[in-house]
Amino acid sequence: MPPAESTNPSNFIKTIIEEDIKNNKNDGRVHTRFPPEPNGYLHIGHAKSICLNFGVAAEYNGLCNLRFDDTNPSKEEAEYVESIIEDVKWLGFDWGDRLFYASDYFEKLYQYAVQLIKEGKAYVCDLSADEVREYRGTLTEPGKESPYRNRSVEENLDLFERMRAGEFKDGSRTLRAKLDMASGNINMRDPVIYRIQRAAHHRTGDKWCIYPMYDFTHCISDSIEGITHSLCTLEFEDHRPLYDWFLDQLNIFHPMQIEFARLNLSHTVMSKRKLLKLVEDGYVRGWDDPRMPTISGLRRRGYTPESIRNFCDRIGVAKADSMVDMALLEYCIREDLNKSAPRVMAVLRPLKVVITNYPEDQVEELDAINNPEDLSAGTRKLPFSKVIYIEQDDFREDPPKKYFRLAPGREVRLRYAYFITCVDVIKDDKTGEVTELHCTYDPATRGGDAPDGRKVKATLHWVSAGQSLDAEVRLYNHLFIKADPEEDKDNTDFKFSLNPDSLETLTSCRIEPGLAEAEPGRRYQFERLGYFCVDPDSTDKKIVFNRTVTLRDTWAKIQKSQNTSSPS
Ligand code: ATP
Ligand code: MG
Repeated sequence: MPPAESTNPSNFIKTIIEEDIKNNKNDGRVHTRFPPEPNGYLHIGHAKSICLNFGVAAEYNGLCNLRFDDTNPSKEEAEYVESIIEDVKWLGFDWGDRLFYASDYFEKLYQYAVQLIKEGKAYVCDLSADEVREYRGTLTEPGKESPYRNRSVEENLDLFERMRAGEFKDGSRTLRAKLDMASGNINMRDPVIYRIQRAAHHRTGDKWCIYPMYDFTHCISDSIEGITHSLCTLEFEDHRPLYDWFLDQLNIFHPMQIEFARLNLSHTVMSKRKLLKLVEDGYVRGWDDPRMPTISGLRRRGYTPESIRNFCDRIGVAKADSMVDMALLEYCIREDLNKSAPRVMAVLRPLKVVITNYPEDQVEELDAINNPEDLSAGTRKLPFSKVIYIEQDDFREDPPKKYFRLAPGREVRLRYAYFITCVDVIKDDKTGEVTELHCTYDPATRGGDAPDGRKVKATLHWVSAGQSLDAEVRLYNHLFIKADPEEDKDNTDFKFSLNPDSLETLTSCRIEPGLAEAEPGRRYQFERLGYFCVDPDSTDKKIVFNRTVTLRDTWAKIQKSQNTSSPS
């Protein structure tokens, strides 16, 4: 578990917990849980909840459980369970021996339901799902009582037992709590607590044909595990009275539920249902597509666990919903990789340069610094020869004002190598496209400095043609064009909001030879270009990189403009 960082800012949840500890509530115990439903992969919003739950547990010497809320067999799968376990671990958190499943409590939950029936607080209802909805009423109108509401305890017990035994068709009957059909809170209008559903469960198989509803299961699972602070997102605020009612009626341990705002991130969607749709309809390559806001997508993209935890610390925990700019997440990974990622040279769109006065078959080795932010990372050798590649974008035949890079007759520095001057431009006869440059080099500038003190205005990255390796580089942009893709509520079809340029694949990139052994998951800074991570699609013949993030810090710019635009 990552150390409980003392820099963790305070928040209203911690204030409540500290007060509880002071008052020796629950004997001063702090026990939280992260309770995902295994119906999809985890996303960055879940990371907020994970960091919060595991974070406060660690900070107050408490415990945090991982519990799967697996009450809906038709949408849940073992694949999701495995990915969630992997992701929480990867983020750096440890639940010890406390991995639980709500499905482990099915028998207990059944007994609690029986207890409610015996006390006249639950009844078997024969209304169909549509009828239940109809009877429920609206926000402005009270509901109507079910005609089955006043069945005797004996009849209810008998029917519920037979529901379990499989005597009735799916959907033909439910078990409902007997609350108040006129309640202002619709959740309290005799909510369904058990339904009949013949679906194999990923853990209990065909043992059950009735399944408890989420609201009934969740609060009781928390209680069974002795959770002291049940942290959840705001949409459960209206469910709290129902949870309180179940726990009070059953007279069992009563965790305290505290709600906080979900994380919304710009330029993406967050709900698992929508992410699943992106996957199923083929808009992305899978749950771990580097454009996805999933933990597995971010990992493949090159994000580190530290950067995500750091992001979660920075956004904080509050009661009000808000949207966080993606630029902040990018800032966090940039900050992390700036310290840790080795610098290398890679040319994404190569332009061939022949150095006319360089000896034909000579290859020399030049020293390059691995990380100027961390000199203990040392240096490496870079081969240099007569034919090199530079970035197409680093040459203009007709340079505009303020363009200081290479142009006919102009001298620039090749990083760690020599000054070169462009003497000739070779073009394709038919297309007029520049295909090759002829340059001369100044042998006296070896290493990148002129002994006579003359200056150049640009330093370019490069690779030697003969020694460099083939690479494919995948450049990513926002998956959605608008900051809030769901702004237009009437037009939620992805086709209209997805960014058609979210992925650009470059297949003829060249990288320095030292990267031959680069393993999937390794992260580098390509000098002047950004941070990149080796993708598992890499083969012996071709290394594939994902661009994690560019070098440009848009977060600083956003903050600056916010500061200057706010009235002083
Ligand atoms: P989604 O709507 O994305 O499917 P969910 O709430 O249905 O999310 P769960 O698996 O039920 O997903 O969530 C597990 C925990 O993570 C819950 O406690 C939930 O409150 C929390 N959580 C989910 N999304 C976010 C978010 N965007 N920000 C913070 N916490 C979240
Ligand atoms: Mg949910």
